[in-house]
Amino acid sequence: MQSIELRNAFAFDCEDCGRENFVRSVVCEMSQEDREQLDMQNGFEFTNGQWVTAPEFVQCSFCKSEFRANDSED
Ligand SMILES: [Zn+2]
Repeated sequence: MQSIELRNAFAFDCEDCGRENFVRSVVCEMSQEDREQLDMQNGFEFTNGQWVTAPEFVQCSFCKSEFRANDSED
């Protein structure tokens, strides 16, 4: 069986059409120094060896409505 790499993603339910959407997380390209600094800060999540964060804006892939993404974690 062929293997495949899974990526982290975020999910949201569209406010207009109600369908479930998945969007890729944003991978942060940075140096080792920047990465160590980010260890002290919040707002990013370290997964699979990469710092990732949610996109600021998302678009429903079905009805094309656009939304500002609220960070509901805390
Ligand atoms: Zn929609």
